[in-house]
Amino acid sequence: MNANAVIAIHGGAGTILRASMSTRAEAEYHAALHAVLSAGQRVLAEGGSALDAVSEAVRLLEDCPLFNAGHGAVYTSAGTHELDAAIMDGRTLEAGAVCSVKRVRNPVLAARKVLECSEHVLFAGEGADAFAAAQGLETVEPDYFHTDARYGQWLLARGQQRAMLDHDGASLSANAARNEDDPAPHEPLDPNRKFGTVGAVALDLQGHVAAATSTGGITNKQVGRVGDTPLIGAGCYADDATCAVSSTGSGEMFIRMVAAYDVAAQMAYRNVSLQDAADDVVMNRLPRIDGRGGLIAVDARGNVALPFNTEGMYRGFARLGEAPETAIYR
Ligand code: ASP
Repeated sequence: MNANAVIAIHGGAGTILRASMSTRAEAEYHAALHAVLSAGQRVLAEGGSALDAVSEAVRLLEDCPLFNAGHGAVYTSAGTHELDAAIMDGRTLEAGAVCSVKRVRNPVLAARKVLECSEHVLFAGEGADAFAAAQGLETVEPDYFHTDARYGQWLLARGQQRAMLDHDGASLSANAARNEDDPAPHEPLDPNRKFGTVGAVALDLQGHVAAATSTGGITNKQVGRVGDTPLIGAGCYADDATCAVSSTGSGEMFIRMVAAYDVAAQMAYRNVSLQDAADDVVMNRLPRIDGRGGLIAVDARGNVALPFNTEGMYRGFARLGEAPETAIYR
């Protein structure tokens, strides 16, 4: 039995400005993160696997409209939703992922079905939606993913003809709302530089690690654009021998840096600690190519690292028998 079982989650990183976030919105984010961590803790306490804990945590984050994944995902330049997700089991190095899905309610569950029921690792677009439906997963109409908040962010981003991280977008729309003396209920991020992807990493009582990540991508992204989230090694990675990692941020840079795998590789090849490896990727390597964002990581000893190079990252972790800890800003 590994007594250090732990789960960590993120709800995206970006320009999360304290000044543009109402006390109520802040409390809502903390409450949502707390509830998801408690659910993940329960799975682990009952002897569930790290894979079960991260699937459940990310499923709940997808269902929560505060975050840019599942219900509440950001809009593409065409005013549609294209969702990406990945999951990896550190025990076996098995992985599953889907990208550009439009129909499956919970992309992380589709990724898990790919891991468990397919000889492949990544399914895209219509084929991925069809695979998920054939596996019996719930499908929804595209408007299920809509929220007024993300739609407002998209209108702003479109007006400025740019793609932006989810949380950055939320800050922008918050400022716009503020200017009209009408603070929006959810005014966390700046719609021009916000990333609201969600993710979870866990270590279970058996000593195995797992990671899962899910996103709507970046606000006003070009149709067909796929970021780091569904790419094993970039947005998601897990290996019992080193660590489990889930990333959030400017996906193109996380892909170019193979960010999640680099944390594991540094531990394996340079023999550095989880914290040192994670800090090096987020604070040194990604900034060299203007990579903005952060990641969450756990290793097989129960160490947790949550580095980010943006103003904020919605995040938290929970050890068995201890109260979950959540945070937003630096
Ligand atoms: N990494 C995600 C992407 O590029 C965005 C995010 O983390 O918010 O699709």
